[in-house]
Amino acid sequence: MKILVINCGSSSLKYQLINMEDESVLAKGLVERIGIEGSVLTHKVNGEKVKIEQPMEDHKIAIKLVLDALIDEKHGVIKDMSEISAVGHRVVHGGEKYAESVLIDDNVMKAIEDCVDLAPLHNPPNIIGINACKELMPDTPMVAVFDTAFHQTMPNYAYMYALPYDLYEKYGIRKYGFHGTSHRFVSKEAARMLGKDLRDLKIITCHLGNGASLCAIKDGKSIDTTMGFTPLAGLVMGTRCGDIDPAVVTFLMNKLNMSAAEIDKLINKESGVLGLSGLSSDFRDLGEAQENGNERAKLALDVYYYRVISYIGQYVAALNGVDCIVFTAGLGENAADGRERICKGLKYLGIEIDDANNSSARGKAMEISTSASKVKVLAIPTNEELMIARDTRAIVEK
Ligand code: AMP
Repeated sequence: MKILVINCGSSSLKYQLINMEDESVLAKGLVERIGIEGSVLTHKVNGEKVKIEQPMEDHKIAIKLVLDALIDEKHGVIKDMSEISAVGHRVVHGGEKYAESVLIDDNVMKAIEDCVDLAPLHNPPNIIGINACKELMPDTPMVAVFDTAFHQTMPNYAYMYALPYDLYEKYGIRKYGFHGTSHRFVSKEAARMLGKDLRDLKIITCHLGNGASLCAIKDGKSIDTTMGFTPLAGLVMGTRCGDIDPAVVTFLMNKLNMSAAEIDKLINKESGVLGLSGLSSDFRDLGEAQENGNERAKLALDVYYYRVISYIGQYVAALNGVDCIVFTAGLGENAADGRERICKGLKYLGIEIDDANNSSARGKAMEISTSASKVKVLAIPTNEELMIARDTRAIVEK
């Protein structure tokens, strides 16, 4: 069975064609600048890259080009489209309706549309991508895999904000959480690597990329996560501020006469480690600058790591203990020094890191704690596309 995974952004589209017999990636790629001058499709097969530059007015044209590339005589990997058994779509917001992935029908499309208010930047391109695929492959089953679904198991005392209750009832204002597909994937992998049943583990998963969130997982279920109503809450991120006193927003609006759109840009695009350092949103740049004596880069990293370490402590309390901590995404998978720094701050848990393993765990799944460590620490590359493909397979085979 071959499954096409689609992740549609407003002007971009990522895809992977996965052979479910051995879960290998047959082809993958990225379309950029959809609807903008300079549209380009980068298609990768067996480590070889093909670039197709041609105008792509909309997502339907982009997806048609992706399908053409997949069946192309020279760099294609399948004979015709009928070899694609199903399409798995990443959908950012499923609101309170979806706690699991689901086969897409008219009711599901309506529910995804109903969530547009909650994810105005993300759900519309997801909908456009699904509709484009439906037009081009009307007989192929499509599955929606939601970023929010995994966190629907949070208890109400974890997801409710202390605001007037009718705002929750009227507008759905509560914590939803994001990165759910990644947290779910790495927690399952962690249980597999440890040879344990997921239901017997208390896990804290740390997705530390440009966007970042932690998740507290008990019995395989999310019981709390750091992102909130939007992906702005919680940890300090590349350009997002994470948790701040909400009164800062009204203060700035009054003081600087800023509009809602301006403040939104400030806290989403100009804050985080970029805002603090005034230098870069990339942790590698900041590490280098810190080594060269840049005080603001040091401050940005100090604030960032302090927040991660503090939140892990909070989740140890929420879980009433922890068996395993997992690092994933850009920084979590690749930065041995970052993992070491976080684990040093967790010494009180009896964590001991194996330096040799920690240094060599770059982009591969490894246990990085010593055998004496009281808490297992793992570095695991995330694979949201594979998780989407696995869900899609399970649903269409049902
Ligand atoms: P992601 O969003 O998961 O693709 O992660 C991207 C982020 O990971 C980049 O902004 C980098 O700051 C960070 N990153 C990747 N590799 C490293 C590394 N070796 N050390 C520190 N940060 C890294």
